[in-house]
Amino acid sequence: MAKLNPFEVAQQQLDKCAKILRLNPGMHSFLRTPMRELHVSLPVRMDNGSVKVFQGFRVQYNDAKGPTKGGIRFHPEETIDTVRALAAWMTWKCALLDLPLGGGKGGVICNPKEMSQGELERLSRAYIREVCQFIGPSKDVPAPDVYTNPQIMAWMMDEYSKITGKNQFGVITGKPLSIGGSAGREDATARGGMYTIREAAKVLGIDLKKATVAIQGYGNAGYYAARLVEAFFGSRVVALSDSRGGIYSKEGLNPDAVREYKLKTKSVIKFPNTKLISNEELLELEVDILMPAALENVITEKNAANIKAKIIAELANGPTIPEADTILYKNGIHVIPDFLCNAGGVTVSYFEMVQNFYMYYWEEKEVHERLDKKMTTAYHSVLSTSKKYNINMRQAAYVVAVERVVEAIKLRGWV
Ligand code: NAD
Repeated sequence: MAKLNPFEVAQQQLDKCAKILRLNPGMHSFLRTPMRELHVSLPVRMDNGSVKVFQGFRVQYNDAKGPTKGGIRFHPEETIDTVRALAAWMTWKCALLDLPLGGGKGGVICNPKEMSQGELERLSRAYIREVCQFIGPSKDVPAPDVYTNPQIMAWMMDEYSKITGKNQFGVITGKPLSIGGSAGREDATARGGMYTIREAAKVLGIDLKKATVAIQGYGNAGYYAARLVEAFFGSRVVALSDSRGGIYSKEGLNPDAVREYKLKTKSVIKFPNTKLISNEELLELEVDILMPAALENVITEKNAANIKAKIIAELANGPTIPEADTILYKNGIHVIPDFLCNAGGVTVSYFEMVQNFYMYYWEEKEVHERLDKKMTTAYHSVLSTSKKYNINMRQAAYVVAVERVVEAIKLRGWV
């Protein structure tokens, strides 16, 4: 797997867009770097009585369109450049979905799998104590991401509320339902992806009832994608994978049965009556729809030419490197780029903020309807831009998003 710096990938993608839009050099260089970032040291009392100091980050990439928004990752291999890249992608994602938000991201270098609940709570509260001047409902609103969850969001919201002396549900999203969470958040990323697949299939004339699907990664995004692609369209999921490998069945897999099996055995591999395949083989299967839903940099110049899917729906962030994009486009593969395809999560997070401000909560059906409208509109604005400029879907998504951010920056008189 290519070892690429994700921030350099994000900058290269922006550079291509700057050329298409003929951005002036000042604007281009302003958009190439984060507006603000905070690096924090977090001393945390561990269960054995010692104090361990963790490093954390919060990056506010661009807030021209509104308060910055983006998750917090707890990961042993977190780096400031990963956080910068993800904050940049959040900026473009929020603009593309026409949300009144900018882009941000946070991270702490730690291994939550080796920490007790008490240690995780103390770390979460310590993070908020250090960044509390920097965040807030009208400044910067975090959310869960890799290895952070609704419980961690609850502790963080509580710490911020205690520091500011009032209930501040709107400071963070992805909270549990009973303390200001939104209905429909759990499967929002995969559900949003389904709306874009539905639109793409209409455009390409693919009958989704007869379509076959391969999904790489079987976590939150991958599992709900498998369930919903069956439930929405009656498509057949023939391959699934996780970090230990993949499984294939021509007849189709039952997403819930595989999930139960994975909960018991910790992996999808060796699920009865399936053929063992590698993660690399999964990407090159003869299927109609391929959904990368795990890691960055998995579709590269080495395998792009072997991909046979008609649609690649990128639920993961950054699964395709720029060189591969060129090959996929040449081969006529329809890519629904990450910051369009997986934008359902942040869109419902935005709905959560709105409901927190309103103090009035919507039913799940209303959340789904509003999400459908947002995703469908965004998909068609990307498609028509791709046709207008004769560029691939990722470049088109950049054009739509960057134009909106540029307009806000100009109107505010920054550049
Ligand atoms: P998750 O931690 O719930 O699941 C990740 C899955 O990927 C697991 O099944 C894991 O086994 C698998 N995996 C790990 N290493 C792998 C490897 N080398 N090969 C194949 N599979 C591997 O994470 P998630 O929330 O489902 O996120 C997956 C991707 O979707 C990430 O890129 C994330 O940034 C993106 N995403 C998620 C959301 C969301 O709301 N969950 C929103 C936007 C984007």
